[in-house]
Amino acid sequence: MQKRNVQFISTAKLPCSLQTLQTRDQFDSSAYAAKNIIKRDFAIIGGGAVGTYAAISLADQNKTFTLVEVTDQLGGHTKTFQDPTTGATVDYGVQLHLNCSIVRDVFARSRSPLAALEPSSYGNPEYYDFTKQVALTNYKPGSIQSDCATALNNYPYLEDLKHNLSSGSTQGGLSWPATPGNPLDTTALAIFNDGNNVELEDFEGAAVHGANNDNSEIYVNALAELKSNVFPQFSIIAAKRALTCKSGVQLLIIARPPILDDTKYFGLDQQEHAILSKLSGKNYYGGVMNNTGLEEGIAYTNAGADTQYHVASLPSVAEVEDATRSTIKWLQTENNFTALEPNFVDYQDFSPFHLSPPTEDIADGWYGKMKDLQGHRDTWYISSLLVIGSTQVWNSTHTCFRILSALLSLSAFAGWAIDIQKPLPRRVVPVYVLHSCIA
Ligand SMILES: Cc1cc2nc3c(=O)[nH]c(=O)nc-3n(C[C@H](O)[C@H](O)[C@H](O)COP(=O)(O)OP(=O)(O)OC[C@H]3O[C@@H](n4cnc5c(N)ncnc54)[C@H](O)[C@@H]3O)c2cc1C
Repeated sequence: MQKRNVQFISTAKLPCSLQTLQTRDQFDSSAYAAKNIIKRDFAIIGGGAVGTYAAISLADQNKTFTLVEVTDQLGGHTKTFQDPTTGATVDYGVQLHLNCSIVRDVFARSRSPLAALEPSSYGNPEYYDFTKQVALTNYKPGSIQSDCATALNNYPYLEDLKHNLSSGSTQGGLSWPATPGNPLDTTALAIFNDGNNVELEDFEGAAVHGANNDNSEIYVNALAELKSNVFPQFSIIAAKRALTCKSGVQLLIIARPPILDDTKYFGLDQQEHAILSKLSGKNYYGGVMNNTGLEEGIAYTNAGADTQYHVASLPSVAEVEDATRSTIKWLQTENNFTALEPNFVDYQDFSPFHLSPPTEDIADGWYGKMKDLQGHRDTWYISSLLVIGSTQVWNSTHTCFRILSALLSLSAFAGWAIDIQKPLPRRVVPVYVLHSCIA
């Protein structure tokens, strides 16, 4: 078998003019100082649930790799706020996992304890129309019925787009907590993908979470363990594939939303551009507030007073934070609570979430085309593009890695390179090139 060889080359000492050239996808790896070259077999872009899982898997297989993450921590959508005075933690991104073997393995590997998560821990729901500012005292939310599970079990449900679900299932599916935006504008595919069998089991009491109320613990531990292979606060500024070798299979692993803005440095060919340019995500925000004056143990929940299926109206993107504050103040008045000034102690923009192509492209076979893109020009996509939840993305990454391992034993790698740099503003901007080729 031919030897694989991936190199990182630091260009921190290159003149500015050359750095500008790098961003035009024309870098010459021989121009980089040899002492800054780092050799790796794999590169993973994005250190969320998927990228971290991939990195740990590679470490366990004694493969060399590097993980490029644009923020200063691993975990992606997993966000945990820690109260600086009490030390108490609260997860406000990923809340729960399914109690299945892959989840237990991930937490055991990290030596992080798991605990059962009772649905009641989210609080007792009370319903209000936040936009119209009315309490919905008699409102009974719909809940998913067995007909929804039956429809899910008919997978692939795309073959028959007619779903005559009961009104309970329709209303329950449309008010699924993780469906961003107006669910009435969302495809049945997205609703089913989000409210899938795995999620239904979760809500029947099969859910677990970090026992320390800290789902980020596995990522903090992973960063400590993998530190020398992780480039936090770096992003790609240029890439070049099939640099010096004949085309073959090579492993650039994209573990983050492959939207066009973020993939433009990969020198996309027509096929890649045609497929990825169709993708867009929805806006999704989360945060932690104090000084709310609201009652503990109550889940204050937004629903439409007179909209179809009681679908909740949402504020515009620019209004999210202000609308949250003013809604809480209205809830204080409505419930005769003490008037306090609510304050965000943590806030996160989770966009783009629920990536999808337009409906007509789905009908035109977009998902099949995306599947065909796997491995094309040596690039693999393992982000939460085809499945949504962490349990599912870990499962699909596990399967993907089995395929990649088989390919590794059969194939040689062609050359590819990426330049990465710390996001501005910084006075000194180290830039790296990753260069992979068959030695
Ligand atoms: C608010 C919220 C709550 C959720 N709750 C649950 C839940 O309870 N249970 C569940 O199973 N799933 C939940 N999900 C879904 C869950 O987020 C996904 O299953 C999982 O996080 C997907 O992992 P990922 O690695 O594909 O993406 P992400 O977690 O988004 O990770 C992508 C990573 O790529 C990095 N990145 C982005 N751009 C670049 C770049 N240019 N260069 C380098 N790095 C980059 C990001 O910083 C991030 O770390 C939730 C999602 C959200 C938004």
